[in-house]
Amino acid sequence: MSDQETIAAIATSSQNGSISVIRVSGEEAFSLVSQIFCDGKGNPMNLNQFQTHTIQYGFIYDGEKRIDEVLVLLMRGPRSYTAEDVVEIHCHGGHYICQVILNLLISKGVRAAEPGEFTKRAFLNGRLDLSQAEAVMDVIQSKSEIALENSIQQLKGAVRKKIESLRSIILEDVAYLEAALDDPEHISLDDFSENIAGHVEHLLRETNHLIENCNNGRIIREGIHTVIAGKPNVGKSSLLNCMLRENRAIVTDVPGTTRDTLEEDVVIGNTLLHLIDTAGIHETENKVESIGIEKTKESLGKADFVIVVLDASEELSEEDREIFSLSSERPGVVLLNKTDLSQKLMPEEIQSLTKKEIISFSAVTGEGLEQLEETINQQFIEQKIETNNELYITNARQKEALFQTRESLQKVKESIELGMPEDLYAIDLTDAYESLGKIIGETIEEDIIEKIFKDFCMGK
Ligand code: GDP
Repeated sequence: MSDQETIAAIATSSQNGSISVIRVSGEEAFSLVSQIFCDGKGNPMNLNQFQTHTIQYGFIYDGEKRIDEVLVLLMRGPRSYTAEDVVEIHCHGGHYICQVILNLLISKGVRAAEPGEFTKRAFLNGRLDLSQAEAVMDVIQSKSEIALENSIQQLKGAVRKKIESLRSIILEDVAYLEAALDDPEHISLDDFSENIAGHVEHLLRETNHLIENCNNGRIIREGIHTVIAGKPNVGKSSLLNCMLRENRAIVTDVPGTTRDTLEEDVVIGNTLLHLIDTAGIHETENKVESIGIEKTKESLGKADFVIVVLDASEELSEEDREIFSLSSERPGVVLLNKTDLSQKLMPEEIQSLTKKEIISFSAVTGEGLEQLEETINQQFIEQKIETNNELYITNARQKEALFQTRESLQKVKESIELGMPEDLYAIDLTDAYESLGKIIGETIEEDIIEKIFKDFCMGK
């Protein structure tokens, strides 16, 4: 257990609910809460007399004055979230009452916790590695079933296990290499290059696989970036509304939405779609600009998937062709919208212009929506994202560490191929070991740790 100050924070959301939780952690947690925890008559109750992992009923008192009726959960370290002694006070919901109790604790000597400080302590006390600590935040922010599943895997230690297995291979090689360099008479390096070359190949393969999966990791976390492209009036906004209406219960607003692109999150099945609609582009004198070529190009640059929308009640135009060619490199579908009107544009006419699947659609009747959703699910989830046993690194910091690992391993590989002396690549091997260590927080500087936990929410 650490000898740090005892900290406290309101752990529940600041919006009014029926119950709120104040979390207290540290060596003095039991005795400090005891100073304000009383029986019904206002007699102080010493929490140290109770067994760990029990719930006690009582009242919070400020001197003679009764503040609230509460339950307290007692958890002695190391069997607690922070691995320290933890007391959770379950009081009546409401921000004001929580604040009164928190202030009372502070007046007794508790320090108000910083955001993420409980999780940081869990990490510093060795209960979680850094990848697990980051997963705590991901679990909270998960917006879809797949994202949640992946974060839970990471929280259970899946990333740590993988990284530790890779590190142990490097550690053995470095240890052997150093021993041999120290004692060349007794330890031979004869077959070493060959052996290590095999190991490095394996490590590079594994690292590359994890890096390749990072893009799917981003899709899991942020959603499939889906751009809705088409000239004005074909029904892009209507399509967006149609998709949102169908999934209304689970739609969230995306902050940072600009005036010329509308961005919305929508969950389809167990997947998150991050929809980007270029509908706000205004017509101008300039014809090229009227379809917002620049804006569309820019949006397409970020797209995992494109929905090209055409108006089936009109002939195909130059602008439509332009959008086809702009989006030809991206995976996607073509929606032939407004099929509820008398149809002038038939699927057969566009078949030769695109490799994308063509779906007859109507944003008014909702025809084709199911097919669209199925297609997206098929292309992204069934083909790209395996939900069992695959590890998807979703965190940018961890991804960066993987890139550094790959670079060092690549150098080792080159050195071996060029027949360089062993002591030279021992350094690069050690670098790879340390880069991998950053992912789980074994080799990381204090200021980076500070930065990571600052992004956490209060009370976590
Ligand atoms: P955008 O400029 O591409 O975003 O197009 P809008 O979504 O604003 O639609 C332009 C017009 O077409 C509006 O008057 C819509 O009501 C209409 N519209 C959109 N989709 C359909 C559809 O499937 N059927 C019919 N009949 N009208 C539609």
